[in-house]
Parts: sequence; C-alpha cells; structure tokens
Amino acid sequence: MLSAAIETAVGELERLAGCVDADSQDIIDFQVEVLRDPTIMELTRGRIEAGENTVFAWVAALDGYIGELGQSEEEEIRARAVDILDVKNRVLRALTGTSAADFPRGTIYVGDNMEPSRFLAHDWSQGGGIALFGGSVAGHVALLARARSIPMVVRTGRFAVATGDPIRVDGVTGTVLVRADVARASASPKRADPLKVGGSATADGTHRTADGVPILLSINLNDPDEINALDPTAIAGIGLMRSEFAVRSVSEAANEERQVLIYRRVLQWAGGRPVTIRMLDVGGDKPLAGLDEAQQPSAAAMRGVRLLLARPEIARVQVRSLLRAAPFGHLGVMLPMVTFPSEIDAMKTMFKEEAALLEHRGVPHRVPPLGMMVEVPAAALMLDTFGNADFFSFGTNDLAQHLAAAPRDGLGFEAYGDNAVPAVLRLIGQAMNLARGKPASICGDMAGDPRRTAELLAVGLRHFSVAPIQLPAIRSALIGLNADGTRAAGE
Ligand code: PEP
Ligand code: MG
Repeated sequence: MLSAAIETAVGELERLAGCVDADSQDIIDFQVEVLRDPTIMELTRGRIEAGENTVFAWVAALDGYIGELGQSEEEEIRARAVDILDVKNRVLRALTGTSAADFPRGTIYVGDNMEPSRFLAHDWSQGGGIALFGGSVAGHVALLARARSIPMVVRTGRFAVATGDPIRVDGVTGTVLVRADVARASASPKRADPLKVGGSATADGTHRTADGVPILLSINLNDPDEINALDPTAIAGIGLMRSEFAVRSVSEAANEERQVLIYRRVLQWAGGRPVTIRMLDVGGDKPLAGLDEAQQPSAAAMRGVRLLLARPEIARVQVRSLLRAAPFGHLGVMLPMVTFPSEIDAMKTMFKEEAALLEHRGVPHRVPPLGMMVEVPAAALMLDTFGNADFFSFGTNDLAQHLAAAPRDGLGFEAYGDNAVPAVLRLIGQAMNLARGKPASICGDMAGDPRRTAELLAVGLRHFSVAPIQLPAIRSALIGLNADGTRAAGE
C-alpha cells in the first residue's frame, strides 16, 4: 500500500518534471530523492510494524524529518522543510485519495441513500438535485442539501427510473416527477435562489424579543465553501462548524497545513465574530474515509470524542491546526458526543501538550476555550458535573435519537424522534438549570424550527445557531415572542 502510493507520487513528479523550468526540476529531483530514501521508508515501516495505521506512520515519519530540518541553523536547509511537506502530502493523497464515484453535473441523483462524502465531492454549481427512496430529513446529506439550497426529497419509496430519463425534484413541495409527468408539468424546473443571508434592514446577529431581551442568532456551517454565499455582518457568528465535512478522509485528517488554512479562512471571514469549530465527529454513521471498520465500528459507540481519544494521532493533528488558526479570529473549540467530564480533561491535556510543543518550536498559536456538545442524554442529566467545559451547545438531533431510541437516518425517526420533542425539551430545561449560567446555546435542528422557538426561549435559551436558510424564519418567530416564550401583546 505504502510502496504503491510512493510509486504513484514518484510517477506524478516525473511527469511534472517534463514540463517545468530548471529550478523547479531541481526541487522535483530532490523530492524524488526523498521518496526513494530508504531511511524514511524504514522509519515508516517500523511504526507500521508497531501497530500504527499506515497513513499516520507516514505522517509521523515525515513530520519528524520536517521538524529536524526546521530546527537547522542553516537557512537553506530550513527552507527544504516545505519541499518535504509537499512530498508528505502528495503521498497522503495517493494513500487515501479514493473518492466515491461521482455522477454527472446538473443531474438528479436517485438512490436508496447518499453518503455525505459523495455529496461533498460533487460539483453542484450546475444545479441538480437528490431523490432518495429512503433517507431522512434529519440525515447529514439532508442537512448539507438544505444549507446549499439543493432540491432534495427523501423517503419516496422505490420507483422505476433509468439513466437519462427526465426527472424533476421539488424540495419545497416534496414531489418527484418522472418521465411523462415532467413533460406534462408546464412550469420550468424550480431551483431555489442562491442563498443570501441578510438583506433586511434589521438583519444583524443580535435580535431582541418583543420585550427587549437580546437573542443571538448564529449559523451552522458544514462545507466551509458555504461562506462564499454568506454575509457575516448579518449574523452573530458561527455557532457550529462541523469540521468532519471539511476533513473527510484520513489523508485530510493527517494534513495539518490544509486544516490550518481552512480554519483560518473561516475565522478571517467571520471578522472577529465568535466561531465555534467542532472537532471531528466521525465514526458511527459518519465514517472517516480510509480508516478501516475495526478502528471505527459502525455502531455509534465509537464516535466523536471517544474516537478522537482512541485515535490520538488523528486528534493531535486537528488540535495543532486549531491552536495555530486561533490567533486569526475569535475561536471556540467544541467536542462532539461528550459523555463524561474525564473526556474534557483528556482533551484539555492534549491541547496543553500540543501548545507546549508549538511554543518550543516558536510557532504562533493560542489556546481556545474548550466547550462541549450536549447531545448524549447521560451528559445532559449530569451537566452540573462538567465544570471543566467552557461552554455548552445542545445537539437536539442526537439527543432526540438517543432519547427515543430512533436512529436519525432510519425509518423510525419521524415517528419516534419527532414525537419525542417534549422529552427533549424537558431534558434541555433541566440541563439549563444545571448549566448554572455558563454560556449555553443550541445548534441542533430544533433551533431552526420556528414551531419550537417559544419553547426554547421558555427553557432559557438565548443563543440559536441554525442553518443559514432557516435564519429568516427564526427572525420572524422572535419578533412576536417575549423572552419567556409567551406571545407578545397584539400578536
Ligand atoms: C446534533 O446532534 O444536534 C448536532 C448538532 O450534531 P450533528 O447533527 O452534527 O450530529
Ligand atoms: Mg450530533
């Protein structure tokens, strides 16, 4: 596996060498030399034999080399570090560069279900849509599609359609028209307008209830490219950035430079507004491509912070990236699927250790506040014991699924998950009392549902983080409500 990836990288470099100038040729020759260096291969193999995952063994061996070059007294040698970094990343791409099979741009995807990686790898700039025989409105792809205004209909039941058949998906009415039905329908295919946040004269991130209590409205960010269509001045900040949609494979998880750039770009875009980046919530139904089943069993038991602590080599790269990006804005880091306070302690220790190493190397960084998702019922019930968390954010998608024993991507979610709303609200209410005034927000889908705004205000929530497309509905809902959730006079 490693040898093949190295050969691929060498082949790419040799092809590149054919069409560059002499200076670039020198660099490429040097990189090929590094790839052929038996010492690096031995170091990597040693780690693999000691039980390390191949990708991380490669990263650790190359990082060691890069670190040594970076410490050199000689400027010219220090400058070589970046060439090795390039080599490291080229092999990483070859090691795990497989992506899900794509489908033609501008077409409708039809299938039982869709993986988030397939959604993310696709170019949606030409439009298109999704019709799923199964799936769920609470699934991750639904969440991504909603954020990008991609028409999507789930749970259609099985229907016959062949490649090339005309088909139309209307995400607003929840209808899918196939073949003759499309021809009969006179209207041209509908595509939601490109997403814009703001536009209303009153739009900014702070709102007031009818009785004047300030409420913060932030957005949830999935694919970081979503910010291209958004206006930061209309929001209080980013209440949840799901980093697992920016870091989707083992090679991306191992690529510190790439992660620093992504986080830095989002922080700079936010222009000083708070940005909460959630560490990788992978495992369970959100597998990290390239990490085998034994390391992330599909049962939810090894997901989120549990997986991060079980695979510290993955967590440490992300921790370093976040530490390095933090000086570029107002960063908070959030841990997914926390169950026990000891998990926060362990991650805090990791942040401290990595910060000390960066300090030693003279790399600029800052230690951000560390908060947690409240989405595992056991944690919600014991929130007063989480004195070590700097802030809380309620994840109602997972809370509902774990409270109602109804997997969110399964058929039972609408029947059981939705009917469990009163139980979720009661649990949040109790947890808000246990939070004892520590900053608490809500970023699960319930925050973006205007039918729930009154109840969420009533339990004391004052900070809502929602998909950008849901902002107008929540703004409207807030106008007619008092802070205790009662209707304002005259409404
Ligand atoms: C949640 O569980 O409510 C949440 C916000 O996290 P995710 O949807 O990413 O699981
Ligand atoms: Mg969750």
